[in-house]
Amino acid sequence: MARNIGSRYTAHQILGRGSAGTVWLGEGPEGPVAIKLLREDLASDQELVGRFVQERTALLGLDHPNVVSVRDLVVDGNDLALVMDLVRGTDLRTRLDRERRLAPEAAVAIIADVADGLAAAHKAGVVHRDVKPENILLDMEGPLGPGGAHPALLTDFGVAKLIDTPGRTKATRIIGTPDYLAPEIVEGLPPRAAVDIYALATVLYELLAGFTPFGGGHPGAVLRRHVTETVVPLPGIPEELWQLIVQCLAKAPASRLRASELGTRLRDVLPLLKGIPPLDVDEPDADPVAEPEEDPYPTSAGEQAPRRAAVPLVPGASTDSNRDTHTSMRVPGPDELSGGPLGTARAPRPAGARRPGSARHKADAVRKRRITLTVAAVVVAGALGAGGYLAASGDAGTPPQDSRPSARP
Ligand code: ADP
Repeated sequence: MARNIGSRYTAHQILGRGSAGTVWLGEGPEGPVAIKLLREDLASDQELVGRFVQERTALLGLDHPNVVSVRDLVVDGNDLALVMDLVRGTDLRTRLDRERRLAPEAAVAIIADVADGLAAAHKAGVVHRDVKPENILLDMEGPLGPGGAHPALLTDFGVAKLIDTPGRTKATRIIGTPDYLAPEIVEGLPPRAAVDIYALATVLYELLAGFTPFGGGHPGAVLRRHVTETVVPLPGIPEELWQLIVQCLAKAPASRLRASELGTRLRDVLPLLKGIPPLDVDEPDADPVAEPEEDPYPTSAGEQAPRRAAVPLVPGASTDSNRDTHTSMRVPGPDELSGGPLGTARAPRPAGARRPGSARHKADAVRKRRITLTVAAVVVAGALGAGGYLAASGDAGTPPQDSRPSARP
C-alpha cells in the first residue's frame, strides 16, 4: 500500500517502528530512501512543527559516511517526515540481541566508525544526545571491516532535540536513555559533545560485556550509579583498550576524549584485538546484596521486576520493545545523588554463574523498597505500570504496546 509523502516521495512498506514514529521504505526523485513519519500527535504539535522547520539546516547539513544523512524534511498536511538515506541492514541492538557479545575487534571497529560520524557532527556543532545501539545501523551491503564488521552509521540525529521542546519537557527534566546518560546530564548540566562520548563508551562496554556498566534495576538507581559508581573492569581485553573506555567514561566531561581522537585511538588498538573471542563475563547483580529466598513484595504474580524499565521517548509513545529508550525525569537534587546503598562498584559475576530466579531474600527486598522509595523522589514519572514504562507528567498517555520493527529488505 503506497502512500504519498509531500509531492516528491512515496512510502511503500514499513521498515520499523520507533518511539517517535514509523520508518518506511520509500522512493524519491533520487531513488530509494527511508522515511521517518513522525507520530500524529507530534505532527499536530504546532510548536514542534515550527522547531522542525527551524532545525532544517542543521539536520540537513550533516554529510558523513558514518552518519545516516537526513535528505529532506517534509511538512505536508498532517504529515511530518524526515527523509533519510536508506541503510540496508540491521541496527546494532538487533545484532547484540542475537549474539549477546561481540568479539572485541568487531566491537571496536563499529565504535570507531560511530566515533568518526560523531566527530563530523560535533565539528558542525551538533550533539546527538541519544547514542545507543538502537540508533546505530549496520550497513550489510557495505564492505567488511576489521573483525568482519559492517560499516556502522549513526542515525536519529537531532530527533531528541526536536522532541525536547520547552513546552514538552521543562528545563529541569532529562531527555535521554538511562543506561547511556552522562553524569553531568543527571546533575542538570546542558548536554555538550562529551555526553555523546560517554554514551558511545557505554555502548562499547556493552558490546564487549553484554551489559551496560551502570544499567539494571530502577531507572533512578541507574541515574545515580552514573554519578557515584566506578566502572567495573572487564577481564581479557588489552590494557590500551580498557584505558580508552575508562577515559571516555570519566565523570568529568572535560576528561573524556574528543570523538576524532577516540576514533583514531580505537583504530590504533585494532591490531591488538585480532582473534580475541567474545569475552566470558556475566552480568553483575543490579543489587549487590545477599541473595534470594523469597520476595515478600513481589511486583506481580510473584515475578521479579524487569531488570530494566522501558521508557518512551515521548510520553504516550509506544516503545519499540521492552528495551530502554528515552525518558523524561526531574534532575535529582544533590542529596538524592549522594550516598545511599548504590554508591559502590558492582563486581561482575564469574562466567557461568546465572542470575538467581524470582525468589528474593527478605532483607534484599526490604532494601530494594528503600531504594525504590529514594528514587521515587528522584524520578518524575507516571505509573511504572505494565511493562515498567515511565510517562512524564502532563501528557496524556496511551498504553504501551510491543511493536518491534519488521524485517529489513
Ligand atoms: P527509535 O525511535 O527506536 O530510535 P527509529 O524510529 O529510528 O527507532 O527506527 C525504527 C526502525 O527503523 C529501527 O529498527 C531502525 O533500524 C529502522 N530504521 C531507522 N532508520 C533507518 C534507515 N535510515 N534505513 C533503514 N532502516 C532504518
